[in-house]
Amino acid sequence: MIENDIDLQPHNTLAISAHSAFFARVETLEQLREALAFARDRSLPILPLGGGSNIVLTGDYPGLVIQVDLRGFSIRSDNSGHILEAAAGENWHRIVMATVQGELGGLENLALIPGKIGAAPIQNIGAYGVELCDRFVSLQAMEIASGELRNFAAKDCSFSYRDSVFKGKLRDKYIITQVNLCLPKKWQAHIDYPALSQYVAGQNWNVDRLTPSQVAQAVIDIRNSKLPLPDKIPNAGSFFKNPIVDTHSYLNLKAEHPDLVAFAAGDCWKLAAGWLIDRAGWRGVRRDAVGVHELQALVLVNPGRGAGAEVTRLAEDIAEDVHAKFGVSLEPEPRYYP
Ligand code: FAD
Ligand code: NAP
Repeated sequence: MIENDIDLQPHNTLAISAHSAFFARVETLEQLREALAFARDRSLPILPLGGGSNIVLTGDYPGLVIQVDLRGFSIRSDNSGHILEAAAGENWHRIVMATVQGELGGLENLALIPGKIGAAPIQNIGAYGVELCDRFVSLQAMEIASGELRNFAAKDCSFSYRDSVFKGKLRDKYIITQVNLCLPKKWQAHIDYPALSQYVAGQNWNVDRLTPSQVAQAVIDIRNSKLPLPDKIPNAGSFFKNPIVDTHSYLNLKAEHPDLVAFAAGDCWKLAAGWLIDRAGWRGVRRDAVGVHELQALVLVNPGRGAGAEVTRLAEDIAEDVHAKFGVSLEPEPRYYP
C-alpha cells in the first residue's frame, strides 16, 4: 500500500515535479490508520492530500503523502434542512452539481472550485459571497498522533475569511475524513457580486424565480471565461488572499487611487489583491516557465511546468513590488510544502 519515491507532478494543479519519499492512497479509515502508524513508526511528517489545488511544492517531500480517497455521500432531509454527508475524498464540484441537479440550493455559488470536500474546511472555501461555513454542520477527523476519530462542530473550527483552526492551532494535527453540511429548505439566490448579477441580467431568466441550476450555470460560465483550467494551464487559483486593511489605510489608498477595488469587511476593508497586482503591472507577465495569468492577475500560472522555487520567487517579487507601490502586504493563499 505504501509506495516509495513518487513524483507528485500529477497530484498538484501547479504541475510542479517534486518527489515524495513515501506515498499512500487510502480508501478506508483502516487504511488511513495504518498509514498514520507507518509514519509514526518512522517519525515521518505527513502531508494529507486532496486534489492538490491549493499547495505549492517547493522541493521534494521527505515524509508520507496520504492521498485521502474515502468515498461516498448521501443527502437526506429533516426539519433543519437537507443534510449532506460526504466522505473526504469526494470531488467538491461533483457534490455541488449533485445538489443543484436535485434542485437543492445553497452550494451553487461554490461551483467549479477544484479539489475534494475534505479540504474545503481547511481554508473555509468561498466564492461569490458564499463560504463553506454558511452551510457547515460538522466534520469528522482522525487525529494524526493517535489514529482516533473526533467530531468537530462549526464552533470548534474557528472559520473565518479563507481560514480555519486547521490552518492555525490544529495545523498538521488532524486528517478530515467526513464533512456534513446543511442546505436550507427555503433557498434564496445570492447574486450580488457584480459579475454574477450582470450575467443573470443578460439572460432571458425570471430573476424572481431563479433556480440553483441557473446560478450554478452562471458561476461556471463566468469562471470558465476568466480562470485558467488547471489541466490546460497549471495554476493554484488565487495565489494571494485579499488583504484586509483598516479604514485609515483604505482612505489613504483610495485618495491616491480613486479606482481602487475594495469592499467593507466589518470595521475594516478588503482590498482586491488582483487589482493591486494588475495595477503594479504584473498581469500577463511571463518569466521562464511561470507567469501571471493575462485575464486574472491574482492567478499565477506554470505553463512551462517549472519548479516550485520559480513559482515562489515570482510570488515574492510580486508581493515585494505591491508592498513598495501600495504599502500593502500580500499573503499567499496556498500552503507551501515542505
Ligand atoms: P489540497 O490542495 O490537496 O490541500 C490543501 C490543503 O488542505 C493542504 O494543506 C492539505 O494538506 C490540506 N488537506 C487536504 N485534504 C485534507 C484532509 N482530508 N484533511 C486534512 N487536511 C487536508 N478556493 C476557494 O476558496 N475559492 C475558490 O473559488 C477557488 N477557486 C479555485 C480555482 C482554481 C482554478 C484553483 C486551482 C483553485 C481554487 N481554489 C479556490 C483553491 C482550492 O481549490 C481550494 O482551496 C480547495 O478546497 C483545495 O482542495 P484540494 O482537495 O485540492 O486540497
Ligand atoms: P471578482 O468577481 O473579479 O471580484 C474581485 C474581488 O472583489 C474578489 O476577490 C472578491 O472578493 C471581491 N468582491 C467582488 N464583489 C464583491 C462583493 N459584492 N462583496 C464583497 N467582495 C466582493 O473575483 P474573481 O477573481 O473573478 O473571483 C470570483 C469569486 O471566486 C471570488 O469570490 C473569489 O474569491 C473566488 N475565487 C477564488 C479563488 C481561490 O483560489 N481562492 C480562485 C478563483 C476565484 P472575494 O475573493 O473575497 O470573494
